[in-house]
Order: sequence, then C-alpha cells, then structure tokens
Amino acid sequence: MAAKRRFRTVKGMHDLLFGKAGAFAFVEEKAREVFSLYGYDEVRTPVVEETELFVRGVGEASEIVGKQMYTFDDKKGRSLTLRPEGTAPVARAYLQNNWASGPQPVKVFYMGPYFRYERPQEGRYRQFHQIGAELIGDPGPYSDVELLVMLLRFLGELGFEDLEVGLNSVGDAECRQRYSQYLREFLEPYRDDLGADSRRRLETNPLRILDTKAPRERELLEGAPRLRDELGGPARDHFQVVCDELGRFGVDFEIDDRLVRGLDYYTRTVFEITSTALGAQNAILGGGRYDGLIADLGGPSVPGIGFAIGQDRLVDLVLKIPGARKRLNAEAHRRRPVCVIPIGGSYRRHGMELAQELRAAGIPAICEFDSLRPLKARLKQAARHDCQWVVLFGEEEEKSQEVVLRNFYEGSQETIPRDGFAAAVAARISA
Ligand code: AMP
Repeated sequence: MAAKRRFRTVKGMHDLLFGKAGAFAFVEEKAREVFSLYGYDEVRTPVVEETELFVRGVGEASEIVGKQMYTFDDKKGRSLTLRPEGTAPVARAYLQNNWASGPQPVKVFYMGPYFRYERPQEGRYRQFHQIGAELIGDPGPYSDVELLVMLLRFLGELGFEDLEVGLNSVGDAECRQRYSQYLREFLEPYRDDLGADSRRRLETNPLRILDTKAPRERELLEGAPRLRDELGGPARDHFQVVCDELGRFGVDFEIDDRLVRGLDYYTRTVFEITSTALGAQNAILGGGRYDGLIADLGGPSVPGIGFAIGQDRLVDLVLKIPGARKRLNAEAHRRRPVCVIPIGGSYRRHGMELAQELRAAGIPAICEFDSLRPLKARLKQAARHDCQWVVLFGEEEEKSQEVVLRNFYEGSQETIPRDGFAAAVAARISA
C-alpha cells in the first residue's frame, strides 16, 4: 500500500506555535490596552468579503487588486475574496451598520489574518496578520496627530527605541491628479530607462513609481517635480499643522517625499514606521488618511484615517528586543503548569481533584493520569513539560491527609497539609 501523504501548511502560510503564539497574544493585549486608552473599540469583520469591495475600495490599479487577491466563486457564483487588508471592510461596516448615526468620530481597532498572493520571503507571507485602527468622521489634523501619538505609545510600550517615522502628504484627489500628470510628462522622455513595472505604472498609477527601489529610476526621480509642491492650499495647511503638532507632542519624524503607499485610497497624510533592526522588509506599519474612500464605496463624503501594523514583523522584532523578550519569558514561566501525579490507579480521581483545586486558585495545572507507568517516567514527563512544581499524592498521603510538593528546579521536597494546599502552592510560586 502506498504511504499516506503527510500534509504541510500551504505555501506562504505558517503555524504560529507556542512561544510565537504567546508573543502574538502579548502584542495583542498591549494593543487593546493602549488603543482603549484613546477611546478605540475592538471590531471583528469577516475574513471573506465581496470581491467588488476591494476592487472599488483599494483600487483596480493597485498591486493588491491587480495581482495579489485570493478570489474565488462560491457555489452560487458570487465572487468572494479573502480580505487582503482591513480598511475597506471597516468602511463597509461603517456604512452597513450606519455608524454615521452614532457618536462621532468612530474609533475602532481590529486584529486578525489577512491574505495576499505574494512571493513568500522573509517577512512577507501569504497569510499574515495585522493590527489596525481607523478613525472615521473627523477631517482635522489633530486626529492625524493623535493617531500617530497613540501608535508610538503602543510601540514604545513594546520596548521599541529604534523607530523611524516617515511622513508625507499625497494631497487631495485633484492635487494628486495634477501631479500624476506632471510626473508622467517628466518621465515620458525616459520611458526606455524604466523597468517593466514602472512603464506600466506610467499609464495606470504614476505616483507609485516614486517608491521604486531600482537605482536608475531613483536617480531619474531626483530631478522630478515634488508632490509636496503641488499640494493645494487646504492640503498644505493640513500637513503643516500635522508636522508642527507632531513636533510639539514629541514625535520625531522625517518628511519623505517619495512615500506614497501602495493603496489607492490614500489622501493627504500618509506615514510609515520602520525599525532599523529588521533588514530588507523593514516597514512594520503603514497608514494614512482616506477622505474619499467611504464616498467611493457609495456612502456620503466622510473622512477617515488609519493604520495597519504587520503583526508578524512586529512580533519578530519584539522577540529581538531584550527587555520585551525577558518580560515574555517571565510571563511564559509564570504560566508553566504545576504537575499533579497521583500514585496508584485508585488515586487518579484524587489527582483530578487536586488539579481542579489548583486551577480554582488560578494556578495552571496538569495531571499525569497514566498511573501504570513507573513514577520515574512520570516525573520525567513533568520535567519535559518544564514544570517547576510537582504534587504527589498516593496511599500514604491519603492516610496522613497531606500532599508532597516537589520543587524541580531546586531539587527540594516538602510535605504540606492536604487542606488548603493550593494556597500554599500559590504562596511558594509567587515567593
Ligand atoms: P499595507 O496594508 O500594505 O499598508 O501594509 C501594512 C503593513 O502590513 C506592512 O507595513 C507590513 O508590515 C504588513 N504586511 C503587508 N503585507 C504583508 C505580507 N504579505 N506579509 C507580512 N506582512 C505584510
């Protein structure tokens, strides 16, 4: 008979196991804590949306919609897509649930898996995770400032010190259109010097050529007109306030003329935060204003601003920060279970009861039920689970109404009263 095939994760998708999953939970908790301080509430939208939502929201000319979506027909022939990003779904939820009739602005955050069919590489996956936030309903620059201040507080609390904040304004739709035309005219004579991607973008979305990595194209762009010089009055004033106030609230940033971001919905303020610790794929988050998105989705003209943090990259970085790693390890250690070992087949129920008492006292506990195995082998299992504490209970202990508590790490052992033993264990764990 042919050997059965072993299954593996789909290309570009990964299991998040043990320590990694713990680190994911750690940054999620921190995000909840910090974002709620700023009045944000958590939402969860479905993983699957109508394809058209992203086509209209993110934009047909964007890389995401053009090349990277996981799109399929359901049994009724409806075209559906695994969400590649989080802002369009939140904008959809805003309209569908009539958030416009509630308190304004609407402030929400979210976290979960996203999907893009990209070439997998370090820091770039086909299922990845984002933590994002959106502030919908305020056009003013102080919302931009507050959002960035919140983000930096979150990253600061995770232990980041080496952050670079890149900031730019892509202006309003009209400035962008005008500028795109200038850029097209500027680059047209050099068409043959451009790579295939940029030649295509020259027709579809010239702005995206600005963030090219090709040295020859970068050189060419040195002489190109600057988007910032083409901003209309209101967009220019908005950007000025954002820059001034960020300085006042202690945010170091650099204006990056070439920062345009890959999604078509951005207007005015755009930003990216990078960490110098992460090599090539170093943008850990991106965001900006999207004052036209809700109208593009058929709603009223309502402005918004938001960001999306790449959680996978964030966690990889957090695991490299010594302080954060230490906190995570300490937390993981605190959660190591106590192992209860009932000695003899008739004591398994007692073992279960003892473990239940520990859990009732908030102490993680596992019970080694396999009482037919020699005690030595069971103690070995406890060691493999990295348990520091083992509780032993058998015939002798039942008679004396005691339990044996062994401290694996110190190689010591004591006998304590059965009654109230969980409190005694708790006291020793936290000592
Ligand atoms: P975007 O939604 O494209 O603005 O991306 C926001 C952030 O999500 C980026 O800065 C990355 O950190 C992260 N990100 C985007 N695409 C991927 C991917 N394929 N794999 C891992 N992280 C990603």
